Amino acid sequence: MRYEGPIYRPPSEADSLLIQATVGCPNNRCTFCMVYKDGTRYKVRPVKDIKEDMDEAAGSYGKHVQTLFFPAGNTIAMKTDDLAEICRYGKALFPNLERITVYGSSQYIGHKGPEGMKTLAEAGLSRIHVGLESGDDAILERIRKGTNSEEQIAAGRYVMDAGIELSLYVILGIGGKERTEQHAVETARVLNRISPDFIRLRTFVPKKNTPLLQDVMDGTFIMLSPHEVLEETAAIIKRLEVTSYLASDHYTNYLNIEGPLPAARERMLLAIEAALQKRENQFRPFFVGEQ
Ligand code: SF4
Repeated sequence: MRYEGPIYRPPSEADSLLIQATVGCPNNRCTFCMVYKDGTRYKVRPVKDIKEDMDEAAGSYGKHVQTLFFPAGNTIAMKTDDLAEICRYGKALFPNLERITVYGSSQYIGHKGPEGMKTLAEAGLSRIHVGLESGDDAILERIRKGTNSEEQIAAGRYVMDAGIELSLYVILGIGGKERTEQHAVETARVLNRISPDFIRLRTFVPKKNTPLLQDVMDGTFIMLSPHEVLEETAAIIKRLEVTSYLASDHYTNYLNIEGPLPAARERMLLAIEAALQKRENQFRPFFVGEQ
């Protein structure tokens, strides 16, 4: 198998076969994201090459492959017919395949529309990881996400209505001190309109080579303290009216909370309340590592 540029995958794809379908990200402007800021240009690999890599993997792993992930950062942006073709090919090649997953931003899901999502579902695409980041339009514009809350809601619905599992990522603290309230209120509003299968929490950590790190250093972006992040988390969870599984399966978070909503809401809020009894300096430092 051949790989080009940085390869990232969600923690839930740790056991998946990774077959690269695209390189880089067609947006590549998000101010918090360091992934392709090394100059990696977005491109779609030829379908023929992708199939060759799957053939090679089938020779080595064949019936052991249960989940397949097609990196890179926004594989949903490739042509619908091409993505459908490699999904069908994977399904035919790996007899025990249970899930095919990609990353995808709402603007590219929006371009495909409900019909495109149905085509992909029929071809075997079964889960999409989408960076919602925030439901607040001012924040989405500031972080240059390339989309807005209405487009995120529409895209989320296209995915869910097609029967594809939707995993939405929220970045705690991405509005800084200035917009923490709006971030909580608007993010809950958008999540309530979509009610995705999974809500995954990440906490903002400034990454090297990103514009947002520069803003933090200049003092134009004031980060939340651990207590403020926990309070923001509680403010979101209190407002959620969803039937989603909430997970915070990431090293950036100050507290690991997870469970089905609404059943686990009270337990999560109690855990947050307990964590708020700890002193600020008992949590991890603001900056973790060099990433
Ligand atoms: S869309 Fe995703 S991969 Fe692309 S720049 Fe934004 S966060 Fe990074």
